Amino acid sequence: MEVILADNLGFCYGVKRAIQLARDSASPQRDSFTLGPIIHNPQMVARLADEGVGTIDSLDQIEKGTVIVRSHGVGPAVYKAIENKGLTMVDATCPHVRKAQMAASELSKEGYQVVIVGEKKHPEVRSIREWAGEGAYVVETVEEAGEVSRCGRIGVVAQTTFSGKKFKDIVNILLDKANEVKILRTICTATDQRQDAAVRLSREVELMLVIGGKNSANTTRLAQLCSEICETHHIETADEVRPEWLENIKKIGITAGASTPDWIIKEVYVKCQKK
Ligand code: SF4
Repeated sequence: MEVILADNLGFCYGVKRAIQLARDSASPQRDSFTLGPIIHNPQMVARLADEGVGTIDSLDQIEKGTVIVRSHGVGPAVYKAIENKGLTMVDATCPHVRKAQMAASELSKEGYQVVIVGEKKHPEVRSIREWAGEGAYVVETVEEAGEVSRCGRIGVVAQTTFSGKKFKDIVNILLDKANEVKILRTICTATDQRQDAAVRLSREVELMLVIGGKNSANTTRLAQLCSEICETHHIETADEVRPEWLENIKKIGITAGASTPDWIIKEVYVKCQKK
């Protein structure tokens, strides 16, 4: 059986950077915490906890120590709250996310009606929304774009991991909603590259294994794209690979989301090769 890895897969620059910053902040006092899970990957979160970097869901949970802002970023109020509590801050916001946050903030200051194209509940989108200030729309579908009120000037930014195709479809609707539409395509190239490589590989193989947290939006999207082309399974670890999936299969493709650690990709690869 041939097992082929996608040309682009696994940790992106922003995630690698965030994990390194978190590891560097671990101390013998075990008083470093990420605000929310560092990435959408339970195995990596558990490994970091072993190394002394815990997770908190709210600043109310600690009185001292170090808070690591994860790659998804946070709004201005959280920076203020960290400062007011006298906590040490390590800012691991991905520079690409930072760019989207600043773009939303600038557009709002310039008087544009800000529209964020992305998933409403995603922490990154929430952080961008907070930088955009009052009244920003979050639009996830073409239907929702249709509901945006007509106005003079619209400024559009995107969730960094949003699908390029869906962004284009939504922007096409928004173009009819205002006299001036300023579009800042803040989609990160890591997302485009992983999606393109996954689609290319899906066309070559009989079965795709997409590795990553079940709570990872970018991994779920990779799985969706692959499943439109060939049989696809979204797994978190090598233990989930079922032998019956691999029966009579000659070519398997493997891809992984931007928050999937290398060691898990390797375990899945080795398991498939042994078959
Ligand atoms: S996918 Fe892109 S924007 Fe998101 S963390 Fe990775 S490099 Fe940053």
